[in-house]
Amino acid sequence: MDRKILKGGEYLITEVPCQDVFTPEDFTDEQRQIGETTEAFVKNEILPHVEEIENQNFVRVVEGLKKCGELGLLMIDTPEEYGGLELDKATSMLVAEKIAASGSFSVAFSAHSGIGTLPLIYYGTEAQKAQYLEKIITGEWAAAYCLTEPGSGSDALGARATAILSADGSHYLLNGTKQFITNGGFAELFTVFAKVDKEHFTAFLVEKSFEGLQVGAEEKKLGIKGSSTTQIILDNCKVPVENVLGEIGKGHKIAFNVLNIGRFKLGAGVTGAAKMALVEGVKYANERKQFNAQISSFGAIQEKIADLTAGIFASESLVYRLAGLLDTKLSTLDKSVGNYYEEYLKAIEEYAPECAISKVYCSEVLADVVDEVLQIHGGYGYVSEYPAERFYRDERINRIFEGTNEVNRLLIPGMILRKAMKGELPLQREAMKAFEQLMTPSFEAIDQSQPFAREKSLIGNLKTVFLILSGAAIQKYMDKLEKEQEILMAAADLAIQIFALESAVLRCEKVHAKASARKKELLEAVARVCAFDASEKFATAARKGAFYVEEGDTLTMILSGIRRFTKFEATGLLQAKRTLAAAAIEDEKYIF
Ligand SMILES: Cc1cc2nc3c(=O)[nH]c(=O)nc-3n(C[C@H](O)[C@H](O)[C@H](O)COP(=O)(O)OP(=O)(O)OC[C@H]3O[C@@H](n4cnc5c(N)ncnc54)[C@H](O)[C@@H]3O)c2cc1C
Repeated sequence: MDRKILKGGEYLITEVPCQDVFTPEDFTDEQRQIGETTEAFVKNEILPHVEEIENQNFVRVVEGLKKCGELGLLMIDTPEEYGGLELDKATSMLVAEKIAASGSFSVAFSAHSGIGTLPLIYYGTEAQKAQYLEKIITGEWAAAYCLTEPGSGSDALGARATAILSADGSHYLLNGTKQFITNGGFAELFTVFAKVDKEHFTAFLVEKSFEGLQVGAEEKKLGIKGSSTTQIILDNCKVPVENVLGEIGKGHKIAFNVLNIGRFKLGAGVTGAAKMALVEGVKYANERKQFNAQISSFGAIQEKIADLTAGIFASESLVYRLAGLLDTKLSTLDKSVGNYYEEYLKAIEEYAPECAISKVYCSEVLADVVDEVLQIHGGYGYVSEYPAERFYRDERINRIFEGTNEVNRLLIPGMILRKAMKGELPLQREAMKAFEQLMTPSFEAIDQSQPFAREKSLIGNLKTVFLILSGAAIQKYMDKLEKEQEILMAAADLAIQIFALESAVLRCEKVHAKASARKKELLEAVARVCAFDASEKFATAARKGAFYVEEGDTLTMILSGIRRFTKFEATGLLQAKRTLAAAAIEDEKYIF
């Protein structure tokens, strides 16, 4: 099937046919099998040792990584020519989703197989790959990534660590402190960023055994306690010149490209964590009795279960739609060309806005899920005997690392705006068309006989509002808009809600025709719940944005447009929620 290859951010200005989106229902048998292998690994090899891992028995973590190596789970993204499996991004995301059920171990796994391994794959020389890659993808060595410093987190390029070439030109001497390094306590290979001559931001491959590298004490953390987080102290650390990774002064490319990948995988991971937490909540609701009834029989609890199910559905739909976008684009590349990896990373960078959306939206869905799952547990959610307490603590980090959610929110409209400025997205032309729609008195009637007609009409209208507001903001602030953070945050929320809702609804539409009667009912219910929720959140962010940008008659006109375009006729909403809740409570699982 030929899919139109959508550009990054283009979903905001075009109507996307449902056949063009990849959904979890499209997984091949091979992909499912790898998902099942991962699930079985977590169940048999990690969950029996969760207590030990939580108490920082890192021997268990290292053993787990080795076992992952044996199963091939550390080489999903590694090219075949270097002994890897070179599977698609959908499989990579499925593994990230399934491994999330392992709690803290999943953080070690993600840091190792993501930020720890990918810089070497994409930027390493043949000699560097020959020296290190096999050790890493088999789990013989654990890997870590050292970007953050005490004085530079979000502002990663503000790093102070230095690298000075020795007089004989054989090695660099690295000095500085790296902060919050995942796997720091047991990693054997570190990708370290430092400035050559205090100026040229550069990456280095640093072995633990290199003279001058010290591992700091374990941080005492709120959650993910079974992961190792330490400082890495470089005190005249001697690194051979052969271990410069990529080019001198081009470290920022490595840092940013690897972050894009980390963000979409984080979206998949937190979706897996959310599913696991939801199941615990539903099981508990079925067990717990108050007022002589299971608490799952109460509407207040059912509404939570329905809302969480819908949130996870949107999160999952978004993640795999993004996987499909990436895989479609990557499949067009010619592997035989010399600059294949450059093109590969450029292809991923194309979807940098969607990668940031995945990180923000899915981590915030998980935040809602763990909060409400704890609430469903009442007082028992607050004590460590039940896993709800750990889920709640473990969740928090996802809104901080891989770029905080604020930084990611700022990036979303910033990147879209830059694409528009470069002429890659006709944002201003579409904004003018959208503005004209403010003057049209009414909408075309919706053909209610088509499934999801109301939801799809809403999505089209939300895009119109996004365009009206971005057009207004660009006109008012021009190139100064990048400094107006409150407006950018509101714009990000609009772009995020549209992508998430559209992903959910297009998936419903695609799957609906061939679905059983029960599945059809569930799909219609989840689309309604997602659309209502998105329309409300969108309207709030849009109104805020309008007040930030406009005043006087134009403001009045835009506010009335927002009212009109975000209106969602959610008849049957209560029944839809009850349908979702009843299915989840009966099956005691995530129902899609
Ligand atoms: C458990 C854990 C594991 C980690 N693992 C690793 C790892 O393996 N490797 C690694 O290199 N790093 C790692 N990190 C570091 C992590 O990526 C950083 O903590 C994160 O990037 C934020 O940096 P910071 O903590 O310095 O916060 P800051 O950058 O100081 O941010 C503080 C606040 O200011 C906001 N802010 C910052 N800049 C802006 C801006 N321009 N505009 C608006 N708001 C802004 C932030 O959103 C945040 O709310 C880890 C951190 C933790 C806690």
